[in-house]
Amino acid sequence: MYDNEVKHILGKFAIFEKMYDEIRFVDPTNKMVIDYKSPSASHKYGSNCYDFWEANQVCDNCIAIRAYTTNQTFVKVEYASGEVYMATAVPVELGTRRAVVELLKNVTNSLILGDLNTDNKSEMYAMIDNMNSIALRDSLTGVYNRRYLTEKLPIDIVNAALLGKSISVIMADIDHFKGVNDAYGHLIGDSVLKSFAETLLKSVRRESDWVSRYGGEEFLICLPGASITRSVEIAEHMRRTTEEKVITCGEHSIKITASFGVCSIKPASGINVESLIDCADKQMYLAKHNGRNRVEPVFHNDFTD
Ligand code: GH3
Ligand code: MG
Ligand code: MG
Repeated sequence: MYDNEVKHILGKFAIFEKMYDEIRFVDPTNKMVIDYKSPSASHKYGSNCYDFWEANQVCDNCIAIRAYTTNQTFVKVEYASGEVYMATAVPVELGTRRAVVELLKNVTNSLILGDLNTDNKSEMYAMIDNMNSIALRDSLTGVYNRRYLTEKLPIDIVNAALLGKSISVIMADIDHFKGVNDAYGHLIGDSVLKSFAETLLKSVRRESDWVSRYGGEEFLICLPGASITRSVEIAEHMRRTTEEKVITCGEHSIKITASFGVCSIKPASGINVESLIDCADKQMYLAKHNGRNRVEPVFHNDFTD
């Protein structure tokens, strides 16, 4: 019944066959190609959807998961094997589940990117990378934005559950930041935020770790695979380097501290993203309550314990 439904929906997209080079059905939650309808099928049923982009990991700017979570259509430009593609992700209902149809069009010879000389491939790739990264970055600090967090955290939790590993999240919040704005003005406040983001970035080493701006002066750091011990070490390093750093802005030398909540879990299947964020947030407030400039960790097997 599931297979028939996939075929039925792909059949509806047959009209687009002349317009697109690849039409494929993707389950964005586990990143699998369920089925495809394409004159030049360069990927197989059951393969990972990101194989097409010759990436060995989930695409940062995954439009399939965005289409899936918001029930809207998204478009992006990407490149693979020296060709440039326009990818469109369309959410579709599959019985009671939602899945995504991806339409891929080779636009190598038809793409116009402003004044850019599209014969210069490396310049064009750099521009595409930049476009895809802007959508995921916080414009002030350069770390990942809330959208990235919303899309990436569920994936990292599911992966940790599948691998039987733990995952840790740190919520970091600058202490008395309002006082910095009040004393030095908003622009210097912005520089302090940038400097704090740099400090956080310097404390994470592994490629799978990421730092995002959760809001205002709050940052969420995700450490897939990190144990509670390891994540407390990282949070403690962030706390110490924040406390020690002198931030120079014009004639001002500013020092700040921050409070850190750490939540480490060994996720069972179906773990809830909000519970993990809430947990790290509660720990961060506990750190504030206990005097600020502190790390407050907690470990859960999952949230049923
Ligand atoms: P606490 O130690 O309890 O966290 O105190 P706090 O002053 O840091 O917290 P509060 O929530 O009272 O104030 C946060 C301030 O952060 C208020 C807001 O104006 C400032 N803020 C939020 N976003 C930005 C920003 O992008 N730039 C600047 N300069 N300030 C910001
Ligand atoms: Mg604060
Ligand atoms: Mg805050």
